[in-house]
Amino acid sequence: MVAPRLRSRSVKKKFVKGGRFITKQKKPSRAVCGLCGAVLSGVPSRGVYELSKLPKVKRRPSRVFGGVLCASCAQRLLIEKARLKKGVLARDQIPVSHLKFLKV
Ligand SMILES: [Zn+2]
Repeated sequence: MVAPRLRSRSVKKKFVKGGRFITKQKKPSRAVCGLCGAVLSGVPSRGVYELSKLPKVKRRPSRVFGGVLCASCAQRLLIEKARLKKGVLARDQIPVSHLKFLKV
């Protein structure tokens, strides 16, 4: 079994001569859109602890689906929601991946 100090996957280990190793903490990945996978703007890429110390308005954009979907996907989804409510679009005309965000 690997020694406890070496088990973490968030810490990169580089082994050097003499059984020693150099550690480097991996950077947290950027937040991506839930539909298209684009990198979200306005969402800082920091660890959970550092994010919890930020004020809520600096953690994600304060619009609908802010921090979950990119702006263009959110806009498209809101249009689909309105058309669904009006009866212009039928439920089976909307992609299945969009339905989990619409809650209809
Ligand atoms: Zn998107």
